[in-house]
Amino acid sequence: MYDDVVKELKELEELVLKCMKCGTCHADCPLYNQDGKEQSVARGKIALIQSVYEGRLEDAGKILKHIDYCVLCGRCKQSCPSGVKTDEIFLKAKSVLRKIEKMKGWQKFVLSIAMEKPELLAKMAPLMHMGLKFGSKKIKDDVFKPIIPIAGGRNVVSVKSKTFADTYGGLNKAKGEEKMTVIFYPGCAANMIYTSWGEAIVETLNYFGVSVYVPEVNHCCGIPAATMGELDLFKKMVNKNIDYFDSLDAKYIVTCCPTCQYGLNEMGPKQTGRSPEQEMMDVVVFLEEVLHADIKLETGEKTTIHFPCHYDRSKDSLLESFVKDNLGTDYTKLKNQSCCGFGGTFSLKHYGKSSDISTSKAEEISTKGFQRVYTPCPGCAMQLTDALAKEGSEADVSHPVQLFYESVVKKS
Ligand code: SF4
Ligand code: SF4
Repeated sequence: MYDDVVKELKELEELVLKCMKCGTCHADCPLYNQDGKEQSVARGKIALIQSVYEGRLEDAGKILKHIDYCVLCGRCKQSCPSGVKTDEIFLKAKSVLRKIEKMKGWQKFVLSIAMEKPELLAKMAPLMHMGLKFGSKKIKDDVFKPIIPIAGGRNVVSVKSKTFADTYGGLNKAKGEEKMTVIFYPGCAANMIYTSWGEAIVETLNYFGVSVYVPEVNHCCGIPAATMGELDLFKKMVNKNIDYFDSLDAKYIVTCCPTCQYGLNEMGPKQTGRSPEQEMMDVVVFLEEVLHADIKLETGEKTTIHFPCHYDRSKDSLLESFVKDNLGTDYTKLKNQSCCGFGGTFSLKHYGKSSDISTSKAEEISTKGFQRVYTPCPGCAMQLTDALAKEGSEADVSHPVQLFYESVVKKS
């Protein structure tokens, strides 16, 4: 079995050899910036993989923890002058090394419920909601501190008693004349936690004459499985979602989670050879570039934006002008443009490190007195909400569509 592992790691050689060991990736790696360790950054991880298949390091099992220690933010890939596909290397290496170090039974159980039994997960939502309500201290609206500390005492955004898919699953017809039909893929976080984001997005699209399909059962995009080295399960989830998209007559898939979009539209197609037939895009990009929606508010709020790592970098300025001009805010760009440190399963396994990364960002938001932080990613929103609560900041974390929905669509 060990020989098979080495052989499979060697299959990465073509991708690995593109790394010229220049070290450019060090500057943007949120983990290297915290601990300064070579094995935390892409160059170090790649060197470890290489030394195993070249026979210079004999215990391959020992390197999994270093490959695993990664937010999968993709910043090394974005900054690499050689175009090294670091994400592909890390995901494949993890899945190969898992053959030596298997997942613990309970981890496998939790993962299989989350991925393969979404109906069961949805049925558990009221219990999770109740547990959080009675087992926690309320910090602010929708944010709780569990009495029994979860992973170092994080502040948790409430799981809702009813999932978004339970309320909006199926076809939501446009108000007035129908311009087109789209699919809205909420992802797990908007389905169970940020249900208000889903509501704001579907109602706003309906308001602008767009009919919206919402999955009746939300199947995870599979990224948590990929980050845990379970690539086959990841592929299964991607295929399941693409089957659903293909069954519907729509030109676009709209999302509110850049990581789901990355999973289903970038990494998924690379792993499965299948892409959705529809064009997939973030909802703000859709409102601006496809619908040219008439959104004009004058909030005057002192705001900033957290740009998620997996957000399409070419759309950063579009997002900025949406927040500044369309929402009429007093917007200032953050000096700290780092990753928030969430990384999905990374923050569960390494909460301390994950929290250290978000703290420096929360300090700037708090010190500069921002009233609101916009971010188009529910994972980043959870992470920033926790960090801001720890800082004692009153700043709200919102999706850019929410305010327009609350102040215009809901009242129409
Ligand atoms: S920036 Fe790219 S080529 Fe340079 S060390 Fe990092 S991964 Fe290798
Ligand atoms: S994906 Fe992010 S955390 Fe992982 S090595 Fe690259 S820059 Fe560092």
